[in-house]
Amino acid sequence: MDIRPVDATATTDERAAVNALLGPPQSAWDGGPRGNPRDAHVAAVGGRDTRARRHLLLPALRALQSRVGWISEGGLGYVCDRLNVPPADAWGVATFYALLFTAPTPRRIVHVCDDIACKARGADAVTSALERAVGPPLGHASHSARTAPHDAAALAPRASGWMRSPCLGRCDRAPAAFVAAAGERPYEALIGDATADRVQALLNGADAGFPQGTVVRQPVEQLRLLRRVGRVDPASIDAYRADGGFAALEKARGIGAAAVIAEVTAAGLLGRGGAAFPTGRKWEAVRSEPATPHYLICNADESEPGTFKDRVLMEEDPFAIVEAMAIAAFATGCERGYVYVRGEYPLAAARLQHAIDAARVAGLLGTLDIEIRRGAGAYICGEETAIFESIEGRRGEPRNKPPFPVQAGLFGKPTVVNNVETLANVPHILLGGAAAFAAVGTAASAGTRLFCLSGNVEHPGVYEAPYGVTLRALIDLAGGLAPGRTLRAVLLGGAAGSFVRPEDVDLRLTHEDTRAAGTTLGSGVVMVLDDSVDLRALVLRIASFFRDESCGQCVPCRVGTIRQEEALHRLSAAPGGRLPAEELVLLDDVGAAMRDASICGLGQTAYSAIESAIKRLHLFDGSGAPR
Ligand code: SF4
Repeated sequence: MDIRPVDATATTDERAAVNALLGPPQSAWDGGPRGNPRDAHVAAVGGRDTRARRHLLLPALRALQSRVGWISEGGLGYVCDRLNVPPADAWGVATFYALLFTAPTPRRIVHVCDDIACKARGADAVTSALERAVGPPLGHASHSARTAPHDAAALAPRASGWMRSPCLGRCDRAPAAFVAAAGERPYEALIGDATADRVQALLNGADAGFPQGTVVRQPVEQLRLLRRVGRVDPASIDAYRADGGFAALEKARGIGAAAVIAEVTAAGLLGRGGAAFPTGRKWEAVRSEPATPHYLICNADESEPGTFKDRVLMEEDPFAIVEAMAIAAFATGCERGYVYVRGEYPLAAARLQHAIDAARVAGLLGTLDIEIRRGAGAYICGEETAIFESIEGRRGEPRNKPPFPVQAGLFGKPTVVNNVETLANVPHILLGGAAAFAAVGTAASAGTRLFCLSGNVEHPGVYEAPYGVTLRALIDLAGGLAPGRTLRAVLLGGAAGSFVRPEDVDLRLTHEDTRAAGTTLGSGVVMVLDDSVDLRALVLRIASFFRDESCGQCVPCRVGTIRQEEALHRLSAAPGGRLPAEELVLLDDVGAAMRDASICGLGQTAYSAIESAIKRLHLFDGSGAPR
């Protein structure tokens, strides 16, 4: 659409949605009627105060989306008036996120995952059946398609529609779907075991039903982080306290901030989001920064394809995350915390909000303020500096480093960013002691790790095991392959990780072992692929995923991900399915440019899985076993 917010007027519903978030306008400076003589006297303060609320831009856009199903010119203009944001700037933000639509769109949309884990478990059959039964998808919830995916005139009257989607984080019950219905009482649900019939029922207005719980198949004695899953009511603070909850927070306040950091450092806790940075060192760096305030962010924007462990923790043990955040904030001197939850996790956000409210009412948070911020469908917002931009109300584009977040992060202040699983370890360290924590795993990779088993195993799900467990043992824990099937490959670490071969199943899963083997643990993805899977289609899906999700601000990534996908597509035209040598050279060159010159991890790892498919699985040179 052309941006003409000056002419367009917000509807009553749009105003109501924005006002419910921001409150009614107080003056002409935040969207109220002009002409009040008082406004002239508050001009300086009024304008500055309004601009200081820029960080509410994404929540305001989400509010419009939830109420009317898209962001119209009038709605966008009203948000711009209320927050004093230039329309072009707000337009840039609205078009950044895949779950926000800037063209008329059916109010009820079902997003059907066609990403790698779901592909391995029949997603293509579901989407093909849907195309036959209800017609083509509206588009793909991706950066390249979402701004003008539709013929507005044709689609506006439709009540519902479906879209293909990147990974929805429900790989334990693949294929997955996410339904979002706009209205006065908006509705969202993430479901597993999607079939074409079930998606059709959702399109016709059916409820997704009671949320499917998470099944933990391991004995409770083997568990730390998953110990409460299925055993302790996630909605009851009393049940959590009866199970020892909040004892670690009490201990932390008793021993003091310095001792807490010393304990976390001695435990050797490494970040579980992928970068494996020492948590104690990060905490100490923020604590020692003189600038104030300090901020804490729990990174719950779990979007790496094949990753769903953080969702399980948030849905099934939300009080543990709140307690861990309170400990982290106490240790690092943070006055305000944010949980940045990916937009496709409505149940996790609801349960966390309940836990925060209950802990606050019980007086357990002290002066700490924790706020949940929902993402809106952007993989890149899992990058820590992209989260800052997103919370501040800008496009979620990563920042150059330095300065590092511990020095100048959210709102330019010292900021701790920890992933959900990382934080979940903290109460265990404080209660059990650093030595007991470090006694599990290896010297360089201490503790247990959550692994997301997906793909062709009998029982996909989250499994907890000490660092050092072998791939073979994990696959066995998940029930092994279906009878008669043989292992083709394992994707470790997700789309940003790499493939390993069947002969690598005795690889010990530690940071040091995987690094030596030329692969990575990443975010704990273990995607098992048997001989029924079309590996080439999976590799192409990975390439298209990175092309879609590149934020586009740096050339090596923006152009490289496109060139990479084009080269792989030329495979279909290559005689015998072999990739010509010059294409391999091109892919290597593009991959090296992305790795060496991209700003953030997305571009730096966009070639990893593809490179491993070429060089380790020999997928495209005829010496492997292409399908
Ligand atoms: S590497 Fe890609 S995703 Fe990261 S900042 Fe550059 S363009 Fe954006």
